[in-house]
Amino acid sequence: MQAFQQVAAPAITCPLCGNSGFEEVNGRPNAGCRSCLSLERTRLLFLVLMKMNIFRPGMKVMHIAPEHGLRYALHNLYKEDYHACDFSIERFGNELSPIYPIDLCNDIERFPSNTFDVIIHNHVLEHLPAKLDNVLAQLQRILKADGYHFFTIPMIEGYTIEDIHEANPAVRAQRFGQDDHYRVFGMEDTIGSIRKWTGAQVTVINVSDYLTEQEVIEAGIPIDQAFAEIGPSIPFLIRK
Ligand SMILES: [Zn+2]
Repeated sequence: MQAFQQVAAPAITCPLCGNSGFEEVNGRPNAGCRSCLSLERTRLLFLVLMKMNIFRPGMKVMHIAPEHGLRYALHNLYKEDYHACDFSIERFGNELSPIYPIDLCNDIERFPSNTFDVIIHNHVLEHLPAKLDNVLAQLQRILKADGYHFFTIPMIEGYTIEDIHEANPAVRAQRFGQDDHYRVFGMEDTIGSIRKWTGAQVTVINVSDYLTEQEVIEAGIPIDQAFAEIGPSIPFLIRK
């Protein structure tokens, strides 16, 4: 009888929590970590942040709409310098770290200028029924001069579609991909818009500068998603 050698699939481990159990999310196999519920984009951002080696003791970090696994990892690194913030703080428990209220549409002006070394948010901007020029300008204002502002957003080919006055959730779902979204970002115009609004340097992270294919596969992130030129999992970085 001929012996077949079985090639084992690479082990997948969540870089945020160390868990090895993953499950399908919206048809994407192994997208979600069963333990910390992290998605591919959150794991990818964390791996890139670690490789960029920007974190230093004493840095003040703001994490908006904090994903559980990333919140846990960043809180472990920064303790009281880590500020998890959300519009609906009742969605979160306080057992991990304090959670602070933030309303990006209305009260970001109350934060002092030049406060945070790092600002992070994933798939938040599409939910805001406000003009993004002010929101992004304000986030840049509260960022320190040598700070880093990382985020990801849902993207489509072509140009941005937006209507902050669209009140019908069914129409929003149809136009923007989800009933609580007010826009979807176009690959053609988003970088230019952010440069215009902030007057800042905007970079789309080239993930292959930081991670190997193997590191990406082992974190349960599809190669085409991680190494795309631009897309919903690829981090933007704005500096002053
Ligand atoms: Zn995890």
